[in-house]
Amino acid sequence: MKNHDASYVLVAGCGRLGANIASVLSAQGKDVVVLDVASTAFRKLSPDYGGFSIEGDATDLATLERAGIEKAGIVVAATNDDNTNVMIAQIASKIFAVPKVISRLYDTEKEIVYQDYPIRLIYPSRLSISEFEKLMACAETAVLK
Ligand code: AMP
Repeated sequence: MKNHDASYVLVAGCGRLGANIASVLSAQGKDVVVLDVASTAFRKLSPDYGGFSIEGDATDLATLERAGIEKAGIVVAATNDDNTNVMIAQIASKIFAVPKVISRLYDTEKEIVYQDYPIRLIYPSRLSISEFEKLMACAETAVLK
């Protein structure tokens, strides 16, 4: 197994979340490779994106190897499907021992499938709720003034 390079990032899914993460990390000087089943998704990358993009299924081992998962220091599972993200994140963590794995999780009830893995989670629903609460607090302050 190759050494993992902290600045090599593999992003699975180049949609609204993955394309933004890939663009931000590329702008920070990381070596980024982004995978998507649909080549049209790569249009969402920023015009300055300097990484690689590969069309393919990120649950496929050969595709992940082609994207250099063996040397990745970070893998982000950012597809729009929880089960797909679970599979990608578990492959990255268990088979390739990627040191930092981050996965998008819509359905918080599925959190349990991650419990035995050192995988960090992005919860779109919880982020929306906390943003909503902040906005409500701002609105209440504005009314009081
Ligand atoms: P969004 O919900 O806008 O963040 O988009 C999610 C992206 O994940 C879409 O561009 C999908 O084509 C992509 N996607 C879904 N399943 C896979 C998969 N198995 N491998 C790679 N990309 C995928």
